[in-house]
Amino acid sequence: MSAPLVLMVLSAQGMETALRIRSGYPDAVIHGLEGRVQGADQMFSNFGETLRQQYGNGNPIAALCSAGITIRALATVLDNKGAEPPVLAIADDGSAVVPLLGGTTGVNVLARQLSKILDVLPAITTSGELRFGTCLLNPPAEFHLKNPADGKRFIADLLAGKKVHIEGVAPWLEEARLPVDADGPMHIRITPLDLAPQSNELIFHPKTVVIGLTGEARTEDVRNALAAMNIAHSSVACVAITEAESAKPYFPQIAADLGAPLRIVATDHATAKSLVSAFIEKPVNLTGDDSLAIAIAATPGDIILVGHKRGRLAVIGLGPGDPNFMIPAVKQELQHAEDILGYETYVRMAGSFRSDQTIHMTDNREEMQRARHAFALAASGRSVVMISSGDPGVFAMGAAVVEALHESADPAWHSVDLQILPGVSAAMAAASRSGAPLGHDFCILSLSDNLKPWDIIEKRIALAAEADFAMAFYNPISKPRPWQLPRAIEILRQYRAPETPIVLGRDIGRPAETLRVITLAELTPEQVDMRTVILVGSSLTQSFDRIDGGKWVYTPRWYGTKPTG
Ligand code: SAH
Repeated sequence: MSAPLVLMVLSAQGMETALRIRSGYPDAVIHGLEGRVQGADQMFSNFGETLRQQYGNGNPIAALCSAGITIRALATVLDNKGAEPPVLAIADDGSAVVPLLGGTTGVNVLARQLSKILDVLPAITTSGELRFGTCLLNPPAEFHLKNPADGKRFIADLLAGKKVHIEGVAPWLEEARLPVDADGPMHIRITPLDLAPQSNELIFHPKTVVIGLTGEARTEDVRNALAAMNIAHSSVACVAITEAESAKPYFPQIAADLGAPLRIVATDHATAKSLVSAFIEKPVNLTGDDSLAIAIAATPGDIILVGHKRGRLAVIGLGPGDPNFMIPAVKQELQHAEDILGYETYVRMAGSFRSDQTIHMTDNREEMQRARHAFALAASGRSVVMISSGDPGVFAMGAAVVEALHESADPAWHSVDLQILPGVSAAMAAASRSGAPLGHDFCILSLSDNLKPWDIIEKRIALAAEADFAMAFYNPISKPRPWQLPRAIEILRQYRAPETPIVLGRDIGRPAETLRVITLAELTPEQVDMRTVILVGSSLTQSFDRIDGGKWVYTPRWYGTKPTG
């Protein structure tokens, strides 16, 4: 899964260019400068900080501004040449594409692609690349350069006029304008074998090896088998397993240990040997037995991708609304998703999606049905994101998804890579806006009696009030549930003083946000709706005036008597 291209846009004209780029390069995410740019996927306020953060995350970046601004902004972090992502500057009117950084991670390839979309010539400055039309140090994904450290000298020698002998099959090199000569002193070897490079030699490992596994397996056995055949790990194209065995947790682990993708194949009673044969019509080499087999294809192109990859289901929390309150792991998950499921409001809140992402908007109130739909998609090999607001584990889809898995005996569902990613829940968001009303022990209650009986809710409010917890009420009131909140307030008043601070947070983190601090005596149901979270103070919760006319609220961390000192 390669990282999506980040387009950093500073002006309205830059935005036009960014949209042109994205129409030809859908896997791009537009980040716009706040106040200057409309319609971006994500907003930023500090160019330098955002750029350095994206660079640090390893995302390819195209900044639609001058090369100078871009380089200056990255100057302090430019010390790690090996790992750097491609960085380009693009004139905001789209008239120039300048690759700046990331020679070994494909900046020139990217520059060519983007130039083509913008119909200009890229400003390629790398001499080896200009002469040979390809960057030897940045081969296509299905080849891996074993000894990149030797690359610079190798290219310098070629530039100085030395000839090169190529051994092995690499269509991409055939297209390059290399000075080929069978007797040349320089060597390029394409081989899946784990050989030590000779002097003046570059070794590329092609992804031509398929490993089939059935039954019990350990990474060590696979490593030993590869070592016995002297095969380089980076030549492993995939690890193949059968769908029936896809729930076994050690298979994904072995694939991860080898750094290779897992392919799940729908065949019954397959031996490892028959499994790998499905991938390669004419294997150069095929060894193994029923449980572990290895086959080598002549070229990466000879591997037929049967089966599907391991599906992923991420149940994510968007936070209350403001993208700055969304954790970075959730943002990444949204970018990598192939299918997005959720209520329309939340899907819209999540930002814009690319045309290659499928959105399944749902107003289906049946949570279990939605959860099963998500699993069915993920089990077929898709990357699925299920969206909740706030935190997915707080009155949201998290529990339904895990419950659906619990109820299922389908191994394909259990083999899905399930991840639950947290978010800032409404109570936390509202609490932080008002100070620290949940600073000591507290509990969160939903006042909705749709899924639980009302007498349980009453009992919980009464006991929590008696135990002197601070409280957060979610789903406080709605048209079909008009009397429940008044009853809850009545119970609170039996245990709490009239001056107990109450925080009413409405649409926190959204454009219509309001926050009010009142007392329990002042609380009436008319002040509250479904978009409100109510925070109720404990007996120790304090509030005092703040300079802007509002109030600070906090619950101290001590209890009973205030500690001295
Ligand atoms: N998973 C969500 C809660 C969903 S239940 C979370 O963790 O925040 C829906 C209830 O959450 C609403 O009725 C309201 O009480 C509260 N809520 C959700 N988002 C809110 C927001 N931005 N501001 C105030 N309350 C919110």
